[in-house]
Amino acid sequence: MTQELPTQISLESGLTVDVASSIEDFIQNFKVDGKAKYREHIKKMILENRADIEINFEDLMIYNPKLAELTLKNPEYVIKQFSNVLKKFVEYEAPEYAEKVHEIIPRFKNLPIVYKIRDLKSYMLDTLVAVEGIVVRASPPKQKLVEAVFQHECGNEVRVTVTDDVIERPLQCPFCHKSTGTWKLLEEKSLFKDFQRIVIQEKPEEMPAGRMPRSIEADVYDDLVDVARPGDRVIIIGILKVRKSSGAKKAKSLRDMYIEVNNIIVSQRILEEIEITKEDEEKIRELAKDPLIRRKIIASIAPAIHGLWDIKEAIALLLFGGVPKTLPDGTRIRGDIHVLIIGDPGTAKSQLLQYVAKIAPRAVYTTGKGATAAGLTAAVVRDKQTGEYYLEAGALVIADGGIACIDEIDKMREEDRVAIHEAMEQQTVSITKAGIVARLNARTSILAAGNPKYGRYLPNRSIAENVNLPPTILSRFDLIFVLRDVPDTERDLQLARHITYTHMKGEDIKPLIDVDTLRKYIAYARKYVRPVLSEEARHMLEEFFVEMRRKSLEAPDSPIAITARQLEALIRLAEAHAKMALKNVVTEEDAAEAIRLMKSMLESVGIDIESGEVDIDVIMTGKPKSQREKILIIEEIIRELAKEKGCAKIKEIVSKAREKGIEDKLVEEILTKMRREGLIYQASEGCYAPVV
Ligand code: ADP
Ligand code: ZN
Ligand code: MG
Repeated sequence: MTQELPTQISLESGLTVDVASSIEDFIQNFKVDGKAKYREHIKKMILENRADIEINFEDLMIYNPKLAELTLKNPEYVIKQFSNVLKKFVEYEAPEYAEKVHEIIPRFKNLPIVYKIRDLKSYMLDTLVAVEGIVVRASPPKQKLVEAVFQHECGNEVRVTVTDDVIERPLQCPFCHKSTGTWKLLEEKSLFKDFQRIVIQEKPEEMPAGRMPRSIEADVYDDLVDVARPGDRVIIIGILKVRKSSGAKKAKSLRDMYIEVNNIIVSQRILEEIEITKEDEEKIRELAKDPLIRRKIIASIAPAIHGLWDIKEAIALLLFGGVPKTLPDGTRIRGDIHVLIIGDPGTAKSQLLQYVAKIAPRAVYTTGKGATAAGLTAAVVRDKQTGEYYLEAGALVIADGGIACIDEIDKMREEDRVAIHEAMEQQTVSITKAGIVARLNARTSILAAGNPKYGRYLPNRSIAENVNLPPTILSRFDLIFVLRDVPDTERDLQLARHITYTHMKGEDIKPLIDVDTLRKYIAYARKYVRPVLSEEARHMLEEFFVEMRRKSLEAPDSPIAITARQLEALIRLAEAHAKMALKNVVTEEDAAEAIRLMKSMLESVGIDIESGEVDIDVIMTGKPKSQREKILIIEEIIRELAKEKGCAKIKEIVSKAREKGIEDKLVEEILTKMRREGLIYQASEGCYAPVV
């Protein structure tokens, strides 16, 4: 089976290169600051007990462009030659070490072109390519047969290189020359390698709008196994190949391309993809000096959408984000801001979300149902073709370090409803299933939109009743907005003018700050600005918090207005507000604005409909406190009546409740509710008794 490969290959130019000696020359003589760089690398590799060496392709291009060209064109052969040459160097440096390792692998980095997945074409097959993308799937590590040793019935052994998934027996025995007879696989003599199959997908921000994301499989061996996890952004360097169809089945005419990985470079820094030049920085700094910068930024968000100032401001704050903190005990407090918009149909929610996904430096747009099997968080899925289990990353993991725009979040799947709690607060996604145990990062801001449960938002019902999301998820949003489509002639006229104008102008409607500049401005602020709370701002937030809490103490029937979670949200909002003007200190103006937004949210969603007081309990538990108290009063009435007469007649309950100022209609509602919740039961016709 082993094919004789030439040691001399002629290039298009007509010249010939002796590959092995060119490689030897490169390793021996390529110098940086007078030192032979790769000989040093080899020594270091031996000390570190590794079997691979990273080779900067730029060095190769400088030192021997022809060898570089050949490496790109015929990587299979050149990499093998590299391995042989490296092995010789190791034998010279440390003979005992050379005995131990099977082969030394050259791993290339910094190839001249980094392709996008959709740019890979079949004419590139068998060449060395670099591709960027995001890891969306990873199989658990396996052992893979790479060199099989077969024994023929004549007793002789043949070594066969296994490429791809198919193991092919020799067609003819090189010893007895028979093409028949049985072959036995000798497992102990065969060579297995650590193996993993991953799938990389285009980065969301690079996907043409409205297209399906492209992806490609990549086979990973040895030390590269488990180097990249789902959600990681990577550059993969490897040989572009095509999957063979297995011998048993019918040959397929459609084949999948895959990459046999030579090297994986994992992007460490969030947002490093956006390049900010010195000139950009000057421009950004200059913009930030404008006293109206924040208004300009807010006005530049979705300029085609009329009004909705507070929502746009909340979105701006979300784009900039607060400052994450790590406490001495290692707990992390998120800096990411989560915003939820609940609104009537046709109020531009989807349009807002799509806009944000487009302008944010890193963002994913998805719906609650999720575009893939992994949904919003992650899933263990079974590959239809191979039957293997994979770990697949969902939207919140893919958007790690950026923003997830989740439309119709109320339609989220059951698994996500559970996992999203962890994702929103601890910002990780843990999964244990089918032998896969993993925790993935999801340091993501969530901008979500949802539709009201009853089609329209019912203003006389609480938010928890209006939306199909549990209070535990609602309370994890820093800000929640209710968007109601109420006819208002003045506003409708303005909206009509705005929409007709937009349609007339089409794409020409210009934001105050253009998208490219805004994106860079945001990336810059997220990367370099970490504002710290000033004494004054701290004081102001504390005071607001304490004041709201005290209100509930002073009047015993006033609801608890605010909890520690809202205090953390206030701090984040104030930090983001400071970041928006690239300030390093959070001052009183930032604190005041955070308080204004929080108050406006509490008023729009947290209002206790009966008492008219702000009640965060409505968000937390879905029940306004005053109604809870009324339930308690009625329960007490029932208890007393039942103690006297065995059970409480409806008429008597109603009249006693009326004395305490509870309306008749409400009493009936509460009774129905209590019966449903199993607090009371009907002891006889129209007569109730408490269950315990
Ligand atoms: P939703 O997702 O809230 O149901 P959409 O985002 O699909 O609504 O919006 C419906 C249409 O109405 C869009 O074309 C949008 O541009 C338009 N529209 C609604 N409200 C506004 C507004 N305030 N300004 C501009 N266009 C609006
Ligand atoms: Zn034989
Ligand atoms: Mg919509």
